Amino acid sequence: GELFPGRTNSAGVDLADPLVRGPLETVLGELAKVDTWIAEPTAISQTSSKGELREIRSPATDVLVGTCRDASPGEADAAIEAALAAQPKWDALGGTARADLLDKVADLYEENRDLFLSVCQREAGKTLTDAVLELREAVDFLRYYAAEARRLFTPEGEELPGPTGESNRLTLHGRGVFVAISPWNFPLAIFTGLVAGPLAAGNTVLAKPAEQTPLIAGYAIDLFHQAGVPTQVVQLLPGDGAVGARLTSDPRIAGVAFTGSTETARAINRTLAERDGPLAILVAETGGQNAMIVDSSALPEQVTRDVVASAFQSAGQRCSALRVLYLQDDIADGMLAMIRGAFDALVIGDPADLSTDVGPVIDAEAKAALDGHIAAMKAAGRTVWQRELPEICAAGTFVVPTIVEIDSIADLSRENFGPVLHVVRFGAGELDAVIDAINATGFGLTLGLHSRIDATRRRVQERARVGNFYVNRNQIGAVVGSQPFGGEGLSGTGPKAGGPHYVARFATERVVCIDT
Ligand code: GLU
Repeated sequence: GELFPGRTNSAGVDLADPLVRGPLETVLGELAKVDTWIAEPTAISQTSSKGELREIRSPATDVLVGTCRDASPGEADAAIEAALAAQPKWDALGGTARADLLDKVADLYEENRDLFLSVCQREAGKTLTDAVLELREAVDFLRYYAAEARRLFTPEGEELPGPTGESNRLTLHGRGVFVAISPWNFPLAIFTGLVAGPLAAGNTVLAKPAEQTPLIAGYAIDLFHQAGVPTQVVQLLPGDGAVGARLTSDPRIAGVAFTGSTETARAINRTLAERDGPLAILVAETGGQNAMIVDSSALPEQVTRDVVASAFQSAGQRCSALRVLYLQDDIADGMLAMIRGAFDALVIGDPADLSTDVGPVIDAEAKAALDGHIAAMKAAGRTVWQRELPEICAAGTFVVPTIVEIDSIADLSRENFGPVLHVVRFGAGELDAVIDAINATGFGLTLGLHSRIDATRRRVQERARVGNFYVNRNQIGAVVGSQPFGGEGLSGTGPKAGGPHYVARFATERVVCIDT
């Protein structure tokens, strides 16, 4: 299309069209009855040790979705060995041939839409709207990184200037074996991006999906193999943090592509620094303490819609989600009344039900942390508005959607990864102080602003240290190729996923200088 020359983003699924939605609901209803999901290591194993099967249950209903066999140390070792052996050939294939394969994977993802939507809803507890967006983003990552492979990894490379009689050429190559460690909150999209980016650059990849969501990842890797990506070039190694630690501590790996907590990124960095072998790189996208600033020139209806979407879509389980809403004091009461109206209308329940807006959080541990935070806020005497959970939520790990007033973003000691929105009031002359307080958290992922005053927008843009700044709209759902996504400081190393500097980061550069 016109918007993205040489490439189009996925069309997605129009859930507003009853002729699309009806049949899809029927198919998903049927698929939910079949329990055939299994994930296991795809490594070419030398060992005969067959580990235990682990059950994966829906966070919404506790119903069994499938089983997973985690990678054993022997399998991890065999996988690294196979990946190492396969890498030179994969690299030598060149950008165009790798891109053709990634495009084929994207086609297979689209052909397998219903199965992906089904397992995404059941394994991760996603609403259908979120599952559709997730599949779209995964497809977009594949096609975007394919296009990047074609652009950057040509055999002739780039000719650089020099004096007469001298030829200089710069080419890009894979670095070696990458470990891709991905989160449960985008079990398909981010998983796919973290695998496809390093692959596009000529690396072989060991994919370690989140412990909670190995099933959709296993299905995805099957499709890579069906598309013709050799089995040694991308391998699935499910398991917990110990599997990740085993892979990242191995001197044979060249780098790690990671999305998850800041704490885990630090641990990976330490591990990479201490081990022998090549100086490995870490590309990490981590947490946020994301704010939105609303001044008295903002349009209230638009603010209401964007606040509720940014804070409560995906049950607040997005790195980009709004955590702290700054309302200018003269409009704060009126704004809060409208936001509460929309908040009270949110449908909480089973994501299998199409009308659901807010589903469960991922597991009991996540629920306990969020419940603990809410209890602490109440104990501190804060003003709190809460919803009641319907009966149907009793079987799952649901957190009561909550809005709570606090004095400053500095009152929060950590990211609260769920459906909890904090509200702070500020005075007209305090804009700089507000931005400074947001910067002082050390995080720099997303920031929202609702204001009709151009000078205010410029002021915030100049002062805020943040990766994704959204003005007069919601602050979630970055689109591949349009809003490359990722932050700075405690929020990640960059480069941004779905942006023009991403794939090159996984490559090494070589110059050949010839005296002609
Ligand atoms: N890219 C997603 C968004 O813009 C967030 C990704 C994440 O949660 O890590 O909403």
